Amino acid sequence: MLKIYNTFSKTVEEFIPLDPNEIKIYMCGPTVYDYFHIGNARSFVMADIVRRYLEYKGYKVKFIMNLTDVDDKIIKKSIEEKRSANEVTKDYISAFFDDITKLKIKKADVYPKATEHMSDIIEMIKNLEKRQFAYNKNGNVFYDVKKFNKYGKLSGKNIEELESGARIEINEEKKDPLDFSLWKKAKKGEPYWESPWGNGRPGWHIECSAMSCKHLGDTFDIHAGGSDLIFPHHENEIAQSEAANNKPFVKYWMHFGFLNINEEKMSKSLGNFFTAREVLKKYSAEAIRMFFAQAYYRGPLNFSEELLASAEKGLEKITNLVDKVNDELKKNNSGVKPEFDIQSFYKRFEESMDEDLNTSQAVAVIFDFVKEVNRIIASTDNIDASLYGNVITFLTKTADNVLGIVDFNKTAAGDDKLIGELVKLLIKLRTEAKQNKNYKLSDTIRDRLKELGVDLQDSKEGTNYKISK
Ligand SMILES: [Zn+2]
Repeated sequence: MLKIYNTFSKTVEEFIPLDPNEIKIYMCGPTVYDYFHIGNARSFVMADIVRRYLEYKGYKVKFIMNLTDVDDKIIKKSIEEKRSANEVTKDYISAFFDDITKLKIKKADVYPKATEHMSDIIEMIKNLEKRQFAYNKNGNVFYDVKKFNKYGKLSGKNIEELESGARIEINEEKKDPLDFSLWKKAKKGEPYWESPWGNGRPGWHIECSAMSCKHLGDTFDIHAGGSDLIFPHHENEIAQSEAANNKPFVKYWMHFGFLNINEEKMSKSLGNFFTAREVLKKYSAEAIRMFFAQAYYRGPLNFSEELLASAEKGLEKITNLVDKVNDELKKNNSGVKPEFDIQSFYKRFEESMDEDLNTSQAVAVIFDFVKEVNRIIASTDNIDASLYGNVITFLTKTADNVLGIVDFNKTAAGDDKLIGELVKLLIKLRTEAKQNKNYKLSDTIRDRLKELGVDLQDSKEGTNYKISK
């Protein structure tokens, strides 16, 4: 039985889906005005592991992640770069997809954009106004926090405390400093949409309420995000959605801890951050994912190149085993079936993951497994191929499909394939050189390949190659 920590109840709860046929997850996505940093990558990867583990357990999962493409920061960037907000978001959306693909994050079912859900957003604000949870002041619409008596429940704050701590914003239109914007009146030169309150654009919080409702319904299973979003963003989402729909919003709230640098929170405003793409230039996606998985998802994690390098090194143990096993599998040997309780490893893996996603223990189980298989291989002669098949299946189901920390293409089998493709490419270039009577180049290609142990054999049918190792 899977148990997860619910930020709302502040306890570890059994996970019981609302509908066992389909689990619905909403994850707050990026504001697309820049490359995302490695701290955001931690949240995205951990949410990906949650989703993959639910799929491992046999659930069908509907996963939604929004893209915030209307925002003050986007407008600021578009002014700085002297181009439209649309052009800015288009570039960073495509960069976002490049980076999550490199990080081996499974695609969401839908990536709703705020700009494509204006009518849903406007409808929800109208509904809130009708139910007297919202008020319009000169084209600016605010949420009336005092009207929602559960406000503060998620973050564990009470309204009085919040009010005394709130910065007094110079905004005479708000009735209360805690009230937040649902609709912002258009300023000169800013992108705007028509609405019953005049031209303007939505606040940030309302887009998640409107889009989660549109794609997952009034109530859904898991809402996830970075822990910096608990207050005010998720608190405000609850206030909006529950007031508008008069139904519970979310069953389980999951939050991912900060990634710190030198024990300090990583943030754009502090200037102490690395983008995910910078880190991906130095370390493999598998090493980055393992570095994240080795820490408890809710707690803070200190960014450490040392730990990343050691994750990279540790992963070689898995890759080496996969190479060895693939070689043996090719022989398809029938022989000794050594005593090996592989089920106990599945059980330990599942027990770790079921215990509030204890991924660091799950990683340890995988390394124990690798060690045990190596021991068996070293101590047994003439092993039956079925053992090797079971080893690959285990690693595929756990280390690859759930944690995403093995790259089967990086193993020797993948290298062979790559080498084959590269030699074929060189043969093609040599043939073209010959056709262009550039014999100097065609001979150089042949001679250099020979030095590397690749013999080219020309015949009427074309050129073949042989690798002498
Ligand atoms: Zn959100």
